[in-house]
Amino acid sequence: MAQAIKDALKATKDHTDSVFYASTALLAVKQNVKFDATKVTEALGNLYTSAGELGAKTAADSLGVEAVASKSVEQLLADRGFTLQGISDSALTRMSDAIGQGLSNGQGYRAIGDSVNAIIDNTQRADVISITESNRAYNQAFVDQIQAAGGAQFDWVTDGDPCPECEALEGLHDIGDDVPPEHPNCMCVAAAPE
Ligand SMILES: [Zn+2]
Repeated sequence: MAQAIKDALKATKDHTDSVFYASTALLAVKQNVKFDATKVTEALGNLYTSAGELGAKTAADSLGVEAVASKSVEQLLADRGFTLQGISDSALTRMSDAIGQGLSNGQGYRAIGDSVNAIIDNTQRADVISITESNRAYNQAFVDQIQAAGGAQFDWVTDGDPCPECEALEGLHDIGDDVPPEHPNCMCVAAAPE
């Protein structure tokens, strides 16, 4: 954890009810937590490209056509910066929550620091992002192939044990409707209508 965040949290130690110290800690988090944009952008790009290729190939095979370039995947690649901005904003919000919660529970700076560290180095969260984002590229590329082949609909297929939200989406959708994933970690896929 960055030293500035440590210092700010340390300052809250004897002032657990102070709004001033809480906001100092938050400011330190906001100024010091940066994602390695270059590396993450590259990784996300590889993920979109390979998942998109797989979706396009699987769709083209099932339709018996040649795969075409997917505009949706190109768009995902172009929007990577915004996607990463959203991810880092949500991480900041969760860190703010962890600090606020820690302070109101009267936790010391060490305990709060541990919560903040857990959010920064959260591999589980990285898994959720990679599952969700590769599913997104796969499905968008898949539906692009259906459209390129002249199809008007895609089939929303849920996995074994879908949430009620996804269960309601099961079945045929017009091209242009949203495609899976519906939510983080959604395992639904697009398929060609029977
Ligand atoms: Zn789902």
